[in-house]
Amino acid sequence: MEQSNKEQPGHDLQASLRRLPSVDQVLQSEAARKAAERFGRAAVTEAVRDTLAAAREDMKAGAAALSAQALAERAALTLEAAERSSLRPLFNLTGTVLHTNLGRAVLAEAAIEAATYAMREAVALEFDLSSGKRGERDDHLRTLVCELTGAEDATLVNNNAAAVLLVLNSLASGKEAIVSRGELIEIGGAFRMPDIMARAGTKLVEVGTTNRTHPRDYTDAIGEHTGLLLKVHTSNYRIEGFTREVTAAELAGIARQKGVPLVNDLGSGTLADLAAFGLAHEPTVREAVKDGADIVTFSGDKLLGGPQAGFIVGRKELIARINRNPMKRALRVDKIRLAALEATLKLYRDPQRLAARLPTLRLLSRSLDDIAALAARLAPKLAAFAGPAFDVAVGDCLSQIGSGALPLATIASAGLAVLPKDGSGSALADLSARLRALPMPVIGRIEHGALILDLRCLEDEERFSANLSGPDA
Ligand SMILES: *Cc1c(COP(=O)(O)O)cnc(C)c1O
Repeated sequence: MEQSNKEQPGHDLQASLRRLPSVDQVLQSEAARKAAERFGRAAVTEAVRDTLAAAREDMKAGAAALSAQALAERAALTLEAAERSSLRPLFNLTGTVLHTNLGRAVLAEAAIEAATYAMREAVALEFDLSSGKRGERDDHLRTLVCELTGAEDATLVNNNAAAVLLVLNSLASGKEAIVSRGELIEIGGAFRMPDIMARAGTKLVEVGTTNRTHPRDYTDAIGEHTGLLLKVHTSNYRIEGFTREVTAAELAGIARQKGVPLVNDLGSGTLADLAAFGLAHEPTVREAVKDGADIVTFSGDKLLGGPQAGFIVGRKELIARINRNPMKRALRVDKIRLAALEATLKLYRDPQRLAARLPTLRLLSRSLDDIAALAARLAPKLAAFAGPAFDVAVGDCLSQIGSGALPLATIASAGLAVLPKDGSGSALADLSARLRALPMPVIGRIEHGALILDLRCLEDEERFSANLSGPDA
């Protein structure tokens, strides 16, 4: 008797397809009525149609017919999934603290509060409260940025890529910009220095060789068409061995002597001396300004630890020229980020409490003992989640800053290594997928056949445990 389906597949399929409830019947089910209260009738009708179409396909592949209630429940699940933000929070256990694909810096509470306030209320964004006249949006940060960097003036745009574009276009459109071959960077997301220059209307003049550039390479290249000298921080690589780099201070001397501006794209840049937090030294913005650059550009969401933004600081008359460029209007920053940036920058006025208040520095300077103890506490919980096919071990690992700061520097960290007992790569991929499918996805990194969860960036232990135990726990 069990063979009968196979003897008359077409006939039986038609019969069972007819048994599928209609859209209206599904909509009358209890589950559909509940879903309609939450998502609206139109959305539920649409989802039920899609679910019925999918069920029909499944049945052609041999699945059984579903009841109206079951179909409605399925439709509700797809609506729930669609309602969850795809930008939902996750645990960044990759070991890269400023991970560009995971949104870079996590903001300080003060910044979150300020941004929320600015979102909810009207603010004096371009309004001078003392005179009652029109103000400048950059004014909110100008004094603070100058105080923290030693620069004469400052302006702000959407991100550092925009800052570089705007600076080149403002100061060297139709002119040449001289750059060392060793500094023609490509950073992620198709930001290539030569392409940005072309879009800025600047002619790229490469000097030196990949590994060695000398002061005379610049002096020989400077002529009547020179718009500026550009120094670019080699954010994501190092040239080592037989090398010669012209320092920012040397370049500033050449620029001054020849009467052309020097622009230093610091990339990450930092307002604090990282050495004070037990990390390697990364050039600070203050140093770059002091070394004599006429303009310095850097990001808001890298080491600075704020929201995405591009800072342009430097000489007053050059900043004024940059601000007169109509492109500035197209690249400006909104009130929400301005509020968050102001609050973030103010934290730098109190270096003693900076690491406690600014998540980026707090995570980067977190003690190894603290991370190792956390790893030991979480190991059994992760082992329970992974199941008997995996070994979970507490171990040392290496974090990195990310986003082009100190690209070769690593920071001793601790975490959990998960190894499939049978050494199978597909078991590891399945486990990674299960971790990504959690209510708060967990993202680690695969290294030498193991899944590594670097716990440096895990601060909410309770939430992590609850997340692993599932929604019912
Ligand atoms: C990161 C970086 C940029 C781009 O900055 P965004 O803020 O990501 O736009 C430009 N130049 C250098 C040297 C960088 O490291």
